[in-house]
This record gives sequence, C-alpha cells and structure tokens, in this order.
Amino acid sequence: MNSAENVYQDIAEQVRIPINMLPIPKARSLLEFRVALHTQDDLPGILTDPQEIWECEWCPSRAKCEELHGGPVGKAALEKEEAAKTA
Ligand code: SF4
Repeated sequence: MNSAENVYQDIAEQVRIPINMLPIPKARSLLEFRVALHTQDDLPGILTDPQEIWECEWCPSRAKCEELHGGPVGKAALEKEEAAKTA
C-alpha cells in the first residue's frame, strides 16, 4: 500500500486528510534516530525548532520534562528566551 489517510469525524462532518508516506529508507532512518534517543546515557535536549515545539503542548511527559530540564519547554521556553534577549 502506497497511500494512507487520517479520517476525522464528528456528528456534522467527516474530513479525510491524505498522509504523505515516507519511502522505506527514510522511515528506517527516522526510526533509528528516534530509537537511539532512548538508548543514550543523557537526556536529549528539549525541542527548540519553532516547527516542532507544538508537540510539547500535547506531550504526556511535559511535567516531568520541565522538572528534569529545570524550566518551561515548548512555546513557554521560547517566550522566556525571547524575554531574556529583550531584558
Ligand atoms: S515536553 Fe515532550 S515533546 Fe516537549 S521537549 Fe519535553 S519530552 Fe519533548
């Protein structure tokens, strides 16, 4: 199968969103990268890419992540960093 889609629905409507499938070599290297994060000795850094920090808003590990990193993460960390630059 070379295609997939997410289907979101509520009582009023159904929305079908196509998913761009990764080629197998790219999927394999993404998995290897993610698995390596779980086997390293230290914690990986927090997400800082503006395109990725939205994930922190939905992350079930956020409270523990903030505790271990000693401060806010995600959008709040970016805002704190911007405030420190302008102070
Ligand atoms: S809150 Fe979750 S997604 Fe964000 S940096 Fe921490 S572990 Fe990663």
